[in-house]
Amino acid sequence: MQLHSRIFIGLLIGLASGLAVNALLGGQHRAVEWLTRHLTDPIGQIFLRLLLMVVVPLVVSSLIVGVAGIGDVRKLGRIGLKAFAYCLVISGISVLIGLILANVIQPGKRMDPAIAQQMQQRYGTDASKRVDEAKATRVSDSPLMQVVKTLAPSNPFAAIAAETPNMLHLMFFAVAIGVAITLVPSEKSAALLSGIDGLYAVSVKIIDLVMQFAPVAVACLLFSNMARFGLDLLQALGWFIVTVLLGLSLHMFGVYSLAVRLMSGISPREFFRRIRTVMMTAFSTSSSNATLPTTLRVSEENLGVPREIGNFVLTLGATANQNGTALYEGVTVLFLAQLAGVDLSFGQQLMVAYLAILGSIGTAGIPSGSIPFILLVLVTINVNPALIAIILGVDRILDMCRTALNVTGDLTAATYVARSEGHRLLEEKR
Ligand code: ASP
Repeated sequence: MQLHSRIFIGLLIGLASGLAVNALLGGQHRAVEWLTRHLTDPIGQIFLRLLLMVVVPLVVSSLIVGVAGIGDVRKLGRIGLKAFAYCLVISGISVLIGLILANVIQPGKRMDPAIAQQMQQRYGTDASKRVDEAKATRVSDSPLMQVVKTLAPSNPFAAIAAETPNMLHLMFFAVAIGVAITLVPSEKSAALLSGIDGLYAVSVKIIDLVMQFAPVAVACLLFSNMARFGLDLLQALGWFIVTVLLGLSLHMFGVYSLAVRLMSGISPREFFRRIRTVMMTAFSTSSSNATLPTTLRVSEENLGVPREIGNFVLTLGATANQNGTALYEGVTVLFLAQLAGVDLSFGQQLMVAYLAILGSIGTAGIPSGSIPFILLVLVTINVNPALIAIILGVDRILDMCRTALNVTGDLTAATYVARSEGHRLLEEKR
């Protein structure tokens, strides 16, 4: 049986058994707590951590190989510009969809204030911890200085040293090396490049091995999430969830279908069929970074995107192109503002859209990476950030869905850029 079918079965088993246990015993039951703590969490986490372990060597080597493979700085600039413009437009569309839906459905006005208060009590401690963390990272730099510090590292090793690596810094460093390799004589750079190419091959191999274990791990990750999940939250936050899921579905099946048909010249059905492993991995890990290895492989093997373009566009996209995240950040901020009774003017909503797009560029591709940005936007528009408590209980489930959208968006960007550079896609029968 092929890997994607096995992952799909794992996904279904995890989903069904988790929901069944939750319905029978409830999310807080001791047996559920024991099983998730001692069995399914550790198995799920080892899978996630092994994937994340390879992300740093993979990103560095894949970007350097990609940039050096493009070979010519002018061509690199053209590809970078196309990818950037595409991502900006498609992120803008996703935020727009989210904001329109939040204004039409008004999920914040439909929520029972008493239930909102209950949620705040239930998740208040967790929320205040996150608000404190966000406050600790607040900076007083000018906007331009913030951009400089966000993009350029002074010490690339510091970017790697943190538990969550600073991917924007790492990528900046890798692109600089890749560009420099194309500028020095090839007899000087050949050995370095072939070593880095070796590192890339080894990283991909590790991922191949880890992915063999994906079906079991995916079942465990989903079991943990579903068994613990308060099913009552689905009802309590029903309108918010409907707004987010409707927005994500419209973007996934409407906007992406149109984009791959018109910009990449491929049939949407075929596109979705060929990338299903990526979507399932993203859905179960809630992490664009942990999914990146699979995204790179599938884009090359199943979609026919040339390696140098895929490496460049997808690696940057995993951190900087997160359409689902942009949509989610916009909807959540509007929802919480509506709930707090703050009426946002058109101008303020534009500001939210702008911040959501910026946020999606800076959001780390890890589970719940969005939360710090949502807190920042809430503070900017004068809404109490502690209100984040209300959505924390459903964040993980929605994270699974938005991450699937995030990585799909990266693949649509890579196919568009590849086609516009004159490459033929989907040559291989899959
Ligand atoms: N989990 C998302 C990702 O990795 C980021 C987020 O929106 O929280 O793409």
